[in-house]
Amino acid sequence: MSQDEIHCTIPGCQRDVTAQEGLPETICEHHLSLPRAHLRARLATTARRLAAIESYWSDDATFDVLVANDRYVQLSHVTCVAQESFEAAWGRFKLAILSAEAGNAGAAKAGPPLRAAG
Ligand SMILES: [Zn+2]
Repeated sequence: MSQDEIHCTIPGCQRDVTAQEGLPETICEHHLSLPRAHLRARLATTARRLAAIESYWSDDATFDVLVANDRYVQLSHVTCVAQESFEAAWGRFKLAILSAEAGNAGAAKAGPPLRAAG
């Protein structure tokens, strides 16, 4: 009973999630499939880029060469940009999942249209 059961973090979803790496949250296969292909591709690309850049920090030989060539500030900047890019891609990806879920719920019970205040 005490196996590592991981559940999807999308509200209302209790599906099991198998081992998943590289994402900030655990998301089930169903919900991972909801965003459009370009959002999945963008998330994968930014995750790969970030992982590649982070490997420079963990590989002592590469890191030492970069520092010796006065590239530390540049590496820091590139890492920051890659992190922001990944987080933005993740934000759009998750929003697409939540929007799809809201659309499904909205089809069941249609609420009043939103109006701009003022
Ligand atoms: Zn789910």
